Amino acid sequence: MGEADCSRPGEHVVVVVGAGAAGVLSAVSLVRASERCRVVLVDPAERPGRGLAYGTTHPGHLLNVRAGRMSALAERPDHFVDWTAAQGHAVGSADFVSRGVYGDYLAAVLARVVETGRVQVRRAYAVDVEEAADGLRVHTTTGVVAAGAVVLALGNRPPVHLPWEIDQGGQSWCVPDPWAPGALAGVAVAEPGPPVVLVGTGLTAVDVALSLASDAGHGIVAVSRRGLLPATHLTGPEAVWPTTVPAGDTELTTGGLLRLLRSEVAEAAEAGVDWRAVIDGVRPAVRGLWARLPEGERRRFLRHVARFWDVHRHRMAPQVAARVEGLRAAGRLVVRRGRPVDAVPDGLGCRVGLRGVDGRVSWMRAAAVVNCTGPRADVARPPGPLVGALLHRGLLRPDPLRLGLDVSAAGEVIGRDGRPHPRLFALGALRKGRLWESTAIPEIRQQAADLAELLVAASRARA
Ligand SMILES: Cc1cc2nc3c(=O)[nH]c(=O)nc-3n(C[C@H](O)[C@H](O)[C@H](O)COP(=O)(O)OP(=O)(O)OC[C@H]3O[C@@H](n4cnc5c(N)ncnc54)[C@H](O)[C@@H]3O)c2cc1C
Repeated sequence: MGEADCSRPGEHVVVVVGAGAAGVLSAVSLVRASERCRVVLVDPAERPGRGLAYGTTHPGHLLNVRAGRMSALAERPDHFVDWTAAQGHAVGSADFVSRGVYGDYLAAVLARVVETGRVQVRRAYAVDVEEAADGLRVHTTTGVVAAGAVVLALGNRPPVHLPWEIDQGGQSWCVPDPWAPGALAGVAVAEPGPPVVLVGTGLTAVDVALSLASDAGHGIVAVSRRGLLPATHLTGPEAVWPTTVPAGDTELTTGGLLRLLRSEVAEAAEAGVDWRAVIDGVRPAVRGLWARLPEGERRRFLRHVARFWDVHRHRMAPQVAARVEGLRAAGRLVVRRGRPVDAVPDGLGCRVGLRGVDGRVSWMRAAAVVNCTGPRADVARPPGPLVGALLHRGLLRPDPLRLGLDVSAAGEVIGRDGRPHPRLFALGALRKGRLWESTAIPEIRQQAADLAELLVAASRARA
């Protein structure tokens, strides 16, 4: 396949791999940062712009962030809310909107920048990036694209395989990736059959429970080590609490941060302010706090605190929580503590072995078992073709905690030689090891804007 040189004289071409939310926000920031910047968005998706989170068509799948924080444009916080009004279904900035509607918004934002003629969407899979004298060459399934810089916005990967999925992945009762198209279609069964077992009790499990519960009347058992469901957002406008974090750049400990949070929560409670305001108040400082945790403390955080942080930080919309409570009250959703250790075929379904808190394994019949452990972080386990090729070339390496890629503070990808690449960047989830909070729209929007400024400045310096 031939090489497509998308640049015109004096133009700077950036290839953004991935046209989910992060890719769209990156493209928007780049064309707004410089008239000389052209963007090629590479993604095989049929409906670019939506990605995994906002491609859902289930009306019960709601944003877990209020509409007022979901604008694609940092300097116009009401952009999303205003867009809904222009579509004739106005929402308030404190509302939780369906993720499908947000996907429509991102698609509309993308369509606007495509209209400028400076953003092109290429329906293809990127499989390699090669260095050239004048930049980079992105190899895709439909040809090669020359670029001055490449942004990897690869987003969410399918969950880590559960032990039995290697052998049983093809069975209709075994669902290794609930986000794969049509994955849940074969799961619907009528009562009084055995329940569907969800492995995980986080936001993915909640989404799947809502999908299944609205399709059929069968029971659902969600299992995780701690049996914790996500906390719930309060209705109405958010309370604000100016959470105080330690100044300076001295090293911190996980224990110290926990004590700080607890004392802030207690102080807020005395002032009549809900704990959620403390968590939200600390969010802008998380990046700096994470940077001050030495690697051993970060590992301690991951082992002992991360799950608790996640359930308090990534909360369910109130309507979603009400639906979940309704299902639990009706006995159609049961949340259990335990660890699924095996699943074997049994008639049309399977039997699942659950190790309980007492260490004993008990077996239960299930119509299906769905992997709801959430997106896989480790890019090398196993790598897709693109990451595999870049690892092979030594252009990137996983971060020490295996949460994403090793990147510089500016998002440059760090190669096997330990040097940041001046033309290869990562955005969103791939930066989690460096930033911890790097997956939600408010954080990605800021990263995209900062990266656009950096890329435009670098291309001017090279010109
Ligand atoms: C179920 C769910 C709900 C969420 N809800 C919210 C929310 O309400 N609010 C919020 O702020 N955040 C939410 N998040 C966080 C969410 O991760 C981000 O908001 C958003 O999905 C990130 O978009 P992304 O583009 O990084 O990733 P993705 O949406 O995963 O998109 C990545 C894109 O990259 C493409 N791609 C990957 N590899 C290649 C390749 N080699 N070549 C070409 N294309 C490639 C994929 O096809 C995909 O389209 C949610 C996440 C999930 C999983």
